[in-house]
Amino acid sequence: MLARLLKLRNVLQHKVKVLSELAKQIRQGGTMKLIGKVALVTGASRGIGRGIAEVLAEQGADIVVNYVSNEQQAEEVANLVKSKGRRAITVKGDVASRTDVEAMVDKAWHEFGILDVLVNNAGIETIVPFLELTDDQWTRLTDVNLRGEWLCSQVFCRRLVAASKPGVIVNIGSVQAGKVLPGRTHYAPTKLGLEALTRNMSAEMTPLGIRVNCVHPGLIDTDMTAWVMKRPDLLPGILAQISLGRAGAPREIGTVVAFFASDDASYLTGQSIHVDGGWVGK
Ligand code: NAP
Repeated sequence: MLARLLKLRNVLQHKVKVLSELAKQIRQGGTMKLIGKVALVTGASRGIGRGIAEVLAEQGADIVVNYVSNEQQAEEVANLVKSKGRRAITVKGDVASRTDVEAMVDKAWHEFGILDVLVNNAGIETIVPFLELTDDQWTRLTDVNLRGEWLCSQVFCRRLVAASKPGVIVNIGSVQAGKVLPGRTHYAPTKLGLEALTRNMSAEMTPLGIRVNCVHPGLIDTDMTAWVMKRPDLLPGILAQISLGRAGAPREIGTVVAFFASDDASYLTGQSIHVDGGWVGK
């Protein structure tokens, strides 16, 4: 009983804080787009996910920081979010495991009382020539990159639909949905597949109040691409193919995700956009 009363008090205190922030925003002309929203960002302990979590928090969202192994880095991201005046929790979970995903959404819902935004960012990349690729390599990568986004989305949508709540999903694909790079016969199809997943989920979920879109990042400076950023023999050739002539920063994906997640994108669903400095388009 006492625990429930304390939780209720916390929820009410948070609602008062959100309302006073909204009032302050309105007085100041209003720039934050996600005040009062709760966003679950998968794979938010590092790289692009961290950049997305940071920008969403700056736009007013509370953040659920998912990770699979790097607890310490996930805690750092949660602390960064808190330093911006937002609430944050970390949740360990493999996006390819239904048990983990159900538990992750349960914990987020229990902690914050709702979820408004799901960013399906967690992903892995390996580079293996087609003739050498094993069944296990294919299965693990497609399980995380494609089935994981489907699974997280299904659990998220079932919860929202059951509660009659609206929401937003942003899938993180890749420039490789539209571009061939060597050794990616397993990776690239998962990313192109996300376009079809986005369109098809959008068709079924938008009428129920859940918009679904996809962002395809280009070359972004993270652990995933550290190997290429350190290759003076390769990097200039790649940068020459990019109209902006440089790699992107994780926050430059975060700002586009924040737009998709916000009401500014209220008439936007089922779309995939390349945020790649002009790589696919060159
Ligand atoms: P990264 O630096 O390697 O970070 C990967 C993140 O995903 C980490 O937070 C990791 O958690 C998490 N993760 C990995 N497997 C997971 C699983 N099974 N369940 C839950 N979390 C998992 O990668 P990144 O460069 O930020 O890439 C993020 C997304 O953008 C990926 O989907 C990737 O395919 C896509 N992308 C990246 C680039 C690029 O240039 N970097 C370009 C196009 C698309 P731990 O820290 O716990 O391991």
